[in-house]
Amino acid sequence: MSGLVTGIAAADAGQRCLIISAGQSALHFFSGSFELYGCEGNPLEAIAGVGKEHPYSKLGVERIQRLAEEVPAFFGKMNISLVGNPTRNHYRITPLGVLKPAWLTMDEYARVEDVSQMPWKRVAICDIEGFLDFQPDFLASGCAERGVESTVIPISLPELERLRNNPTEMRATNIAKELTGDTLHRLAQKINQASGDVDAVLMPTVVGLLDAAAVEELKKQVDKPLHFVATMPPSVPGIRTQITLRKRFQELGGVYMLGDTVQSGTIVDGRLQSIRTANHGEVEFEADNFVLATGSFFSHGIVASSERVYEPILGLDIDASDERSEWYKRNLFEAQPYMTFGVATDSDFRVSHKGQTLSNVYAVGAVLSGCNPIKEGCGAGVAILTSLHVAQKITRK
Ligand SMILES: Cc1cc2nc3c(=O)[nH]c(=O)nc-3n(C[C@H](O)[C@H](O)[C@H](O)COP(=O)(O)OP(=O)(O)OC[C@H]3O[C@@H](n4cnc5c(N)ncnc54)[C@H](O)[C@@H]3O)c2cc1C
Repeated sequence: MSGLVTGIAAADAGQRCLIISAGQSALHFFSGSFELYGCEGNPLEAIAGVGKEHPYSKLGVERIQRLAEEVPAFFGKMNISLVGNPTRNHYRITPLGVLKPAWLTMDEYARVEDVSQMPWKRVAICDIEGFLDFQPDFLASGCAERGVESTVIPISLPELERLRNNPTEMRATNIAKELTGDTLHRLAQKINQASGDVDAVLMPTVVGLLDAAAVEELKKQVDKPLHFVATMPPSVPGIRTQITLRKRFQELGGVYMLGDTVQSGTIVDGRLQSIRTANHGEVEFEADNFVLATGSFFSHGIVASSERVYEPILGLDIDASDERSEWYKRNLFEAQPYMTFGVATDSDFRVSHKGQTLSNVYAVGAVLSGCNPIKEGCGAGVAILTSLHVAQKITRK
């Protein structure tokens, strides 16, 4: 997401851009909500208290608010409709039926504005038979804890029976490929027949892999308000978001090279001159500016061996402890120090190599040090806002 947001913003401002992407990203695990800061109430007030090493401190609260207010329109141009406000969190519903604070949620998802006031008294929960990445009973018990009655309605469709023959095929993405056209219509009919007298129907996100047309169509055909709830990965809306962002980048003239890995670069006099990739051997890619958006440990933007933590492409300076025993806490549920490890940057998000700032290399998103997206709930906020900021910085130079 960081690479694509930077690329779109820079290409939109007239830059010639190339994105080289190794492949799968955190978007394949997307919950349907962007987090700015996971707290009750106003995230901007909580952000004002983060430590000086945090990417948010480098942006500053005023700029965060300004950039955050641009985000719905940025995604809206791609027909990704996001609902939310940077000054007041709402709540998303997890696949386990738990409410978590969120900044922006895709419009098709179920969301709750106020935990003490659920928007429904009675809901129907769709249970796609044989689909194990969504547990309606957990969701039903989460609803019951908040005073919402629910009925689980089993859904079986002949088109999905074929997938059921092999349980590993019964994944959200494969189901979404089947749920189009007449099958979608039959699904709507089944939901309408079974849902009864409810305020809303909750449905796992197994519709609309390539675009949101099937989502819109199903919402039209189901008699009651239809809201989606995240499944376990893979995330259908996350993959759709990635496809949509990529399409927008390419429409703006950007070149997207998927399935290649940047392996090394040549640094001369405090500037990155060129990079090399696995698929292009001796070919060097040169640019005025480079943006590192390679993610954290999860995406191999940062790597840990048994002795050290490092940035694998350029060997950039990182913020991490040399002492392995300080990387983690034994209690799994404590804030884990390694989650804050990442590349060191100056106040403009420029990286450094052997203590020297590289004047034309910026880092954005999860590869940055200083924040803990899991404990703080700030993953998408850091990714999107640092990307927009760096893109603006490069294009205004
Ligand atoms: C499993 C998971 C689920 C998450 N879900 C959410 C969520 O629902 N909401 C939320 O707000 N936050 C979530 N987060 C936090 C997440 O970190 C951010 O929201 C954000 O998506 C991070 O984006 P990114 O582009 O910086 O990094 P990533 O998504 O990790 O992307 C990095 C990209 O760089 C590529 N790459 C890495 N090395 C190279 C190389 N050498 N050459 C070329 N390409 C390379 C990778 O293939 C990958 O495509 C989640 C994080 C994880 C790990």
